[in-house]
Amino acid sequence: MRHDHLITSKQLSRADIETVLDRAAEIAADPSAVSDRHAGTLLGLLFFEPSTRTKMSFETAMKRLGGDVVDMGSVESSSVTKGETLADTVRVIEGYADALVLRHPREGAATMASEYVDVPLLNAGDGAGHHPTQTLLDLYTIRENAGLEDLTIGIMGDLKYGRTVHSLAYALTTFDAHQHFISPESLRLPREVVFDLHQHGGAQIREHESLEGILPELDVLYVTRIQRERFPDEAEYQQVAGEYQIDAATLSAAREDLTVMHPLPRVDEIAPDLDETAHAAYFEQAHNGVPVRMALLDLLLQGGEQ
Ligand code: ASP
Repeated sequence: MRHDHLITSKQLSRADIETVLDRAAEIAADPSAVSDRHAGTLLGLLFFEPSTRTKMSFETAMKRLGGDVVDMGSVESSSVTKGETLADTVRVIEGYADALVLRHPREGAATMASEYVDVPLLNAGDGAGHHPTQTLLDLYTIRENAGLEDLTIGIMGDLKYGRTVHSLAYALTTFDAHQHFISPESLRLPREVVFDLHQHGGAQIREHESLEGILPELDVLYVTRIQRERFPDEAEYQQVAGEYQIDAATLSAAREDLTVMHPLPRVDEIAPDLDETAHAAYFEQAHNGVPVRMALLDLLLQGGEQ
């Protein structure tokens, strides 16, 4: 795998991750120091699926580094509706931009697209597959709140279709984290992901159907949305919708310093009464997308080791 494309968190070593997080911390402490660093650089945005945080924080990050973006816009307004293939679209847009950010509903789309382009390509989510830049901001948030050493984390919700979960789990194996996966039976981590996690780093993994027993042990609880758009059948979604919701009362059994995270958007997984508690870190997490993506772009665009 080429090192200037970021397709999956599996390609990141612990040292790679720490390089990005350290750079992000430097940038967060003094953003003005890099405000002209990539003047003239253009980032191409290709989002074939809805996005708020990822797209806007990439745009913010590029602009805060002095660069700008060129945006394919919505699929409906692009040549995709005329039948253009993804391979052709990326080959065209690489001629307009210095790096590309791609989100696509098909798992594996980023890997395929990266084979057609010479500029760095960043996977901003491929179906139920991976979302490595989300992982980097998740790790940054964990490091700021709970630390990455000797971490015990619960990851709850849609573990089957949740790409943020898959990416985060791989990266956490490089930190030897204790990972507890909490979901209904039908939304467990795919068996191939569990197998792969064991192969990847001797992962310390346990699976649960209920949060209750494990909650008091957790440093971090990472809650996820049930990925309605990925269910082949709406009736199947309805069977699990609304499961695994938490509110401030749920956390009475948790450690006082438990950090609650969520990649957002939330539907009803976290009640608003938790927002004002010291547990809530999900808005901070979303904001961390900017310095982390600035750091990543900075490292990639200067051709540094990453
Ligand atoms: N925003 C995240 C993603 O794109 C999480 C979610 O949609 O639930 O995967």
